[in-house]
Amino acid sequence: MIDLHIHTNHSDGKFTVKEILQMAENKKIHTISFCDHNVLGAYEELKNRQLRECFSGRMITGIEFDFVYQQKNFHMLGYDFDIERLKHSKYIDRRSEYELIEIQEKRLAFFKSVCKKLNIKLTPGLKIQSLGEQANDIIKADMQKHKENDKILDTILGKDRKNSFWLGHVTNPQSPFYIDVTENLPTAQEIADDIHQAGGIVVLPHVFEYKSVNNVEFLNQMYQLGILDGIECVHTKHNREQVAYLEGFCKEKGLCMSGGSDFHDDQKQTLGYTPLGEIQDKYFWGERKKSLEDEER
Ligand SMILES: [Zn+2]
Ligand SMILES: [Zn+2]
Repeated sequence: MIDLHIHTNHSDGKFTVKEILQMAENKKIHTISFCDHNVLGAYEELKNRQLRECFSGRMITGIEFDFVYQQKNFHMLGYDFDIERLKHSKYIDRRSEYELIEIQEKRLAFFKSVCKKLNIKLTPGLKIQSLGEQANDIIKADMQKHKENDKILDTILGKDRKNSFWLGHVTNPQSPFYIDVTENLPTAQEIADDIHQAGGIVVLPHVFEYKSVNNVEFLNQMYQLGILDGIECVHTKHNREQVAYLEGFCKEKGLCMSGGSDFHDDQKQTLGYTPLGEIQDKYFWGERKKSLEDEER
């Protein structure tokens, strides 16, 4: 069993590096990768030998970068790079905790003003309590606490409340809750250049998770950029048909297959598993990468 897509509390994950290493060890997962959003903090922490020894398996360096494409925000994974080289990339997020909390506070204030205009009731005094808390999660949860909001929430979150507030509203220019989160983001090409220069491979994650694009078209457009080494075929949000489609795509184009749960929180994902079951070893591209390097030699 493997899991090549794991978030820690260095970005928006719930658990510490140590807690995840212990979970992975207990589940006998043999290869893992921490892929925090735009930061390498987990790997800085892992320079501590004692911590590294909590896990007897293999660890592959990883990161999940944000990029902008056609005015929208997407993700790109980098793997197996040299940390010392990648850490100088200008796309690594170096903002302080204070600055990050301030951004979320500003977003929260904006969402509150929109709710006021739309007559959506909120609990007074809502605020960002700690690093990692997202303004959109706080608003989404609080709106649902008040019975008075039921009717308007049917349109905002759907009758079953399963619509994504982030994808359907915060990142949707047609919504009053819209925020331009693509400001200052790099392009896929810029991200890929830095990953490649650090000796890593570029893997496109969760192609079918995006709701605001034609997913297959997006996949082809990314492929045509000529920057991809692999595709994340297995992901918590991918169903069997989608996994099969992506596997076929990798085979046809000679790309590596990858697989991960995108673990953030044990209530939402399961380490080492997706709803389709255990993440199998064939989704680790280790041997394939070695052969790519041999070909280059
Ligand atoms: Zn992602
Ligand atoms: Zn992720």
